[in-house]
Amino acid sequence: MNLVLMGLPGAGKGTQAERIVATYNIPHISTGDMFRAAMANKTELGLKAKSYMDQGNLVPDEVTNGIVKERLAESDTDKGFLLDGFPRTLDQAKALDTMLNELGKKLDAVIDIHVPESILVGRLTGRFMCRDCGATYHKVFNPTKVEGTCDKCGGHNFYQREDDKPETVKNRLAVNVKSSEPILSYYKDKGLLQSIDGNREIDAVFADVKKIIE
Ligand SMILES: [Zn+2]
Repeated sequence: MNLVLMGLPGAGKGTQAERIVATYNIPHISTGDMFRAAMANKTELGLKAKSYMDQGNLVPDEVTNGIVKERLAESDTDKGFLLDGFPRTLDQAKALDTMLNELGKKLDAVIDIHVPESILVGRLTGRFMCRDCGATYHKVFNPTKVEGTCDKCGGHNFYQREDDKPETVKNRLAVNVKSSEPILSYYKDKGLLQSIDGNREIDAVFADVKKIIE
């Protein structure tokens, strides 16, 4: 089963990815892991990617695509794979088709875990921290036992990271929506897109994932 997993930040993609690879015993191919491995192994492409990142530049598609292709050529993907975090652009989606063709493989499904943006904002902006001991909480999923008091140190001094503030989160989501829309419609046109309602319990979402895979 050759799969691409898509979903906006906070949609629960990571949790579903863990379940998929554990249940079906296929490699989880995330771009982050691939980059780290290519750089640690000092492959030619890994070194190239590193030189761009060290200068604070975006890694160009040809380098990213090369790293993905090298990974997809490894034998553990013969039984299938779960791609996560790639493709990020329409060009990358088209490049993925080409490289899979060259490798004699094809995609079976693109699973999109869909959660409305308004819900994601709630999930992603709820995180807050204790300034005194660093403990992390979430307004909805992991609140303090006593409101306004840290469970660990009894402090009352909380703050939110810049990344967790509503304006930052809304911007991040908007950027992601804009880049993922053309990819989703590309796969929809190919008949590969399977959209799942991600605004439910983890088990219910995974039951739908299983239906698609099986
Ligand atoms: Zn504390």
